[in-house]
Amino acid sequence: MKKLTVNQIKEGTGGRLLNGNAFDTAENICTDSRIAQAGDVFFALIGELHDAHQYLPQVLESGCRCVVISDENAWKQAAEQSGEAGNVSAILVEDTTRALQELAAFYLGLLNLKKIAVTGSTGKTSTRDLTAYVCREKYKTQKNTGNLNNHIGVPLTILSFEEDTQVGVLEMGMDKQGEIDLLARIVKPDIGIITNIGLAHIENLGSQEGIFQAKMELTGYFDETNVLIAARDEEFLNRERIQGPYRLVLAGTDGKSDFIISHIEDFGADGIQFCLEHLGEMHRFRLPIPGRHNAFNAALAVAAGLELGITMEEAARGLAKAQLTDKRLTVRGKNGIKIIDDTYNASPDSMRAAIDVLMKTRGIRNIAVLGDMFELGETSLTQHELIGRYAAQQGVQLLVAIGRDAEQIARGAEKEGLEKSFYFERKEEFLEHMDSIIERGDVILVKGSRGMEMEKIVKKIMEQQ
Ligand code: ATP
Ligand code: MG
Repeated sequence: MKKLTVNQIKEGTGGRLLNGNAFDTAENICTDSRIAQAGDVFFALIGELHDAHQYLPQVLESGCRCVVISDENAWKQAAEQSGEAGNVSAILVEDTTRALQELAAFYLGLLNLKKIAVTGSTGKTSTRDLTAYVCREKYKTQKNTGNLNNHIGVPLTILSFEEDTQVGVLEMGMDKQGEIDLLARIVKPDIGIITNIGLAHIENLGSQEGIFQAKMELTGYFDETNVLIAARDEEFLNRERIQGPYRLVLAGTDGKSDFIISHIEDFGADGIQFCLEHLGEMHRFRLPIPGRHNAFNAALAVAAGLELGITMEEAARGLAKAQLTDKRLTVRGKNGIKIIDDTYNASPDSMRAAIDVLMKTRGIRNIAVLGDMFELGETSLTQHELIGRYAAQQGVQLLVAIGRDAEQIARGAEKEGLEKSFYFERKEEFLEHMDSIIERGDVILVKGSRGMEMEKIVKKIMEQQ
């Protein structure tokens, strides 16, 4: 973070200085008292489970320069207990989370950077990472680390940007209406990217139309200077459905797209190659990460890069270096077993995409170990059954389904005639039987929703073999 004075933090948060020195400076924001360090600004956030005001005494001990608080009494008590409080600036605000968001918006106003916001049902992190690889070929680029993509993660990401950042790529997640609107208001992106409209979080949003509307909140503050880049589909992401003062750039496989994806060659775990036709010219790209779906994510990244004056050659160079964040189709090998670790999360679209990668990866047997997909609402059982059917249709030789709704994955696979289909309600039961199920030479896809913690299976396989 660029150095901010206490006065600027006060101005940015709209708070009132209770104590301290307005000209003091700080250059790091912290919200976790356990890692608070000398010189930090600490925001005492109030979450569902914890109120960070209770940790103010430790925060004062850590040598923080400034605290942003909403509970004046908690501050007074902590200050009385501690001998350090005299040097610490305290800013009183009404709501510390909102103050963090407002400071992030204020901070963006002090920087001179282009902002690219990425949302969509699946592929946000992948597209964000690919976009950053493209942009880094020409500009100093920063992005959210991990999956810091919500109403707290995005402001924290912004506040971590260095002063000379030229491009900020920000993943924006949501599970309810209004969440993208809030983030768009903070960020005011120059370029928006929507990866796709799937089924994730349909429980909260009622319908796919609701999901579409929620993602479109990204464009709420767009005018004619802005660009929305989207992966074209027939139902939502097309010129008929999307209209506004801004420019719409589409990537897809047919002639209606501005970036036409073709000739996707899939080398399984080794990655893909594809062509992109733009303004009548064909360009070839190599991506060292697996999954046909990444051709779409990469096309969006290239389109965003071109908007910022990056050439096709630079974009291709950037994509050739790409590595994705851990647990997203990460390939691990041990003693003749290849594991495709896609345990980060799962939705119906990403399950299918991962099964495609599995089937393109060479091994003696292609095995899918699939856990529950959460938050699918009423359609859940059907969606699970469809995944089982899909796995069998694609030729998976052995399937293990784990969880509650996952029973339907196994049933779906059986209905399609797959003989080797196993169902376990709990991962632990599978782990007990694992040795008799997997063998040397297998390629194993492991995937499920975050809460399923399927990475524990990957860990066990890696330990045992
Ligand atoms: P989250 O909502 O958890 O932040 P995300 O939208 O950031 O997820 P990624 O982490 O990029 O998505 O990818 C999640 C899963 O979706 C991975 O399994 C990945 O292989 C798959 N995936 C990525 N892009 C696509 C796509 N365009 N279509 C279908 N599946 C995809
Ligand atoms: Mg993500």
